[in-house]
Amino acid sequence: MTTIHIPAREGRAFRVAAGQSFRVIDPEGAQVADLFAFVADDTTEWLSAEHTRVAIGRLFPRVGEGWCTNLRRPILTFVADHSPGVHDMLCAACSPSRYQLLGAEGHHASCEENLQLAMSEFGHEDIEIPQPVNIFEANPILANGDIGIETAPTKAGDSVTLRAELDAIVVVTACPQDLTPLCGGTPSAIDIELL
Ligand SMILES: [Zn+2]
Repeated sequence: MTTIHIPAREGRAFRVAAGQSFRVIDPEGAQVADLFAFVADDTTEWLSAEHTRVAIGRLFPRVGEGWCTNLRRPILTFVADHSPGVHDMLCAACSPSRYQLLGAEGHHASCEENLQLAMSEFGHEDIEIPQPVNIFEANPILANGDIGIETAPTKAGDSVTLRAELDAIVVVTACPQDLTPLCGGTPSAIDIELL
């Protein structure tokens, strides 16, 4: 088993073969992990939250379901959930423009830049920025239709397990969001275990 430590505010890419499983672990609790996946031999095909919502007929993911690409092929299966079961499939990754609008001064780390950097280290400079699946992220839909922003309800050691259905490059970023409550105000690390 290989463990990949993703320091707070950073992202990492790793390859998984079809059939291989991996765990996304929140080692300290209250931390969001933005997850992206690209087909290994054609990065113009990627995990698409909007296509997955159509495929599963739901706003939020649930164990046993497949997550689809923009070509509607299952790329990951949600195998197990050892967390409160709260994950987001509605919201774009945080980005420099998001932090500018939130009033950040100077450069602020973001999941979008973490994704670009991680993929460039795998030789992919010009990638689409898909809408991620935001593991452990709490964006409940309120009665009036508003999207809530709450702190991730995870405790230290909570995890989800995913299985690759295609050979893929997966990118996970330890979301650096510290200007909304998503990560409890103090972004922390994420660990990956390749099983
Ligand atoms: Zn983020």
